[in-house]
Amino acid sequence: MPEGPEVECTRRYLQPLIGKIVKKIQLTPLSQKYPKYKNKQSDFNWFSGKKLIEVERRGKFLIWRFDGKKIVLNHLGMSGKWILLKKDHRDLPSHAKALIYFESFPYAVFDDIRNFGQFRIFESYDKVLDYNPIRKMGIDGLAKPFPMKEFLIRLNKPNYANREIGMVLVDQKLVAGIGNIYKSESLALAKINPTRLVKTIKKIERKKLGRAISETLWKAVDCNGSTFSTFQIPTGQEGSAQNWHNVYGKHGESCLECGTEITRIVQNGRSTFFCTECQK
Ligand SMILES: [Zn+2]
Repeated sequence: MPEGPEVECTRRYLQPLIGKIVKKIQLTPLSQKYPKYKNKQSDFNWFSGKKLIEVERRGKFLIWRFDGKKIVLNHLGMSGKWILLKKDHRDLPSHAKALIYFESFPYAVFDDIRNFGQFRIFESYDKVLDYNPIRKMGIDGLAKPFPMKEFLIRLNKPNYANREIGMVLVDQKLVAGIGNIYKSESLALAKINPTRLVKTIKKIERKKLGRAISETLWKAVDCNGSTFSTFQIPTGQEGSAQNWHNVYGKHGESCLECGTEITRIVQNGRSTFFCTECQK
């Protein structure tokens, strides 16, 4: 699933579209089957003739801003990706949900194989900021410099104290942009066992974890994100961050540091990978 780094890489590769005038935003008939594509085709008529001003990232969301009030909020879901197509293709990706045609530019296609993505209109930027998942979002794991003080304050909240750090770390209200991959990798880098209760983690370890999160997420951005099955940046290239993963998806393999077999556990229905020897 695309996490903060994959969404950030997508945002960066969408930059050639900034300043272009929209000819038309078109939903595909397939999109209408899924609740997160709740607008009608006619709702998108407003965008024709508008200039794309910015594509902003908040956690795992992309916010498409135009020269006017309305906004398109976009989430890549489990498997969404943007593709910039150079010429008019008759063969669209099989799960294309939305297309944006620009003047003086080919077009951008949002392909969402597992249908968990989101592409919907908000009446104003304020309404987007007021949308619960965005309003309640924690610090941005990719913020530079990493907001350590705020991270420590949030991690100290009483509702986290008796929960396992491996569960807490994917809570977007703590750090936005972390999912299963970078949760496991950040904990491995910080040498913290994911089953530890937050209250048992000392301040020095918490700081180490904060630094590990920042380092891990940025390293992934530099590699164009991680590709396991479907993720691609809009040029069609795959990411390569999976090549340096130490623990994610490595259960049964030996830890590169100590040779112990990497363990996989399920926390709150989500996989966590770690080395029982290196991570205490
Ligand atoms: Zn180890």
